[in-house]
Amino acid sequence: MPNYKPLTTEEYETLHILLSNLLSTKQFPVIIPSEAILGIEAIAAGIAAPGHTILNIVTGPYGTLFGKWLARGGTEVVEIQTSFDDVVTVDEVAAAIEKYKPCALSFVQAEAVTGGSNPTAEILKLTRQYNLITVSDSVSAIGAEPVLMDEWGIDFVAIGAQKALAGPNGISAVGISERGWAFLEANPQAPRNSILSLLDLKLPEHDPFSGRIPANISVLEARALIAALKLAEEEGLPAVIQRHRLASSAVVAGLKALGLEPWQQKERSYSPLVTTIRIPKAGGDGLSIKRPVGIVAPGDGELNGKLLRINHFGSNASQDSVEQAILTLAELTDQVPGGAIAAGRLVWEGERNDGK
Ligand SMILES: *Cc1c(COP(=O)(O)O)cnc(C)c1O
Repeated sequence: MPNYKPLTTEEYETLHILLSNLLSTKQFPVIIPSEAILGIEAIAAGIAAPGHTILNIVTGPYGTLFGKWLARGGTEVVEIQTSFDDVVTVDEVAAAIEKYKPCALSFVQAEAVTGGSNPTAEILKLTRQYNLITVSDSVSAIGAEPVLMDEWGIDFVAIGAQKALAGPNGISAVGISERGWAFLEANPQAPRNSILSLLDLKLPEHDPFSGRIPANISVLEARALIAALKLAEEEGLPAVIQRHRLASSAVVAGLKALGLEPWQQKERSYSPLVTTIRIPKAGGDGLSIKRPVGIVAPGDGELNGKLLRINHFGSNASQDSVEQAILTLAELTDQVPGGAIAAGRLVWEGERNDGK
């Protein structure tokens, strides 16, 4: 029987501490009583205003959506848009900052839909130099790559546990820096008394857990999130991240052995969460699947028919799941899987030998 009892103050505090640890921050992130996209929309609503010029980097569909939400609030939105098989370069970002003189920059750290990861540490080094307010959608990054909120100076970071952390999807979090709070408070247009309000979610400063626990937080989701974050702490966040990196490397080795090509143009932008495979224009019929086969899934939206996703995240960031995916790819392309399985296995064995 699940524990439906109201959250205790201890559980509520534990959840915040686990989230702070996860984001490497001294701040207590706010709990979003819903899936991560609500936190992302709330950030957009909170920083949007006429007179704000915001540089929005678009490397996938979530970036497009974020730009629309900024524009809805009257923001002067300027964008760098890549083809979705590439991510942004630091030089492009630097040039756009010089040109548009924005007050803030928003981007998606890792794109589950395109399998690309942006050069986050470098982008944030740049934004620190220019003293910009920064927004990172790190839903697909958290647990698969580092997200160092304080060290990197991220002012708003949205995360969810349902990707790399194998957690629930009905609750999520937004980390907000002191500067981020000040930015929201200074924006008369930032929602208040609204489901989109971050300001409403701010914990009391002196005794953060003294107030009433918000009634809108699902107790089951909150407990599931605590459990997922505790498991990640037990394994160790660096080990969770390494497991995703290995899964990515093994899948890439396997797909190349099958003569397939990654969708992402540059190796340095391969996401540790999801690997995407280009469906060739000629002879790619076998890869044009309509439904997922295990963790091998068709492309989403406009990318359907152009790429396949290998969702090697959470509990599927494992040798078994990766080998199953390589087998599926071999079947879809009418090939004998042996060489590709062996290529993937080498990656895991290399790691085990390194670990000795
Ligand atoms: C999955 C994902 C989201 C949305 O998360 P939900 O919890 O499904 O709302 C947002 N941004 C990125 C980059 C994602 O990969």
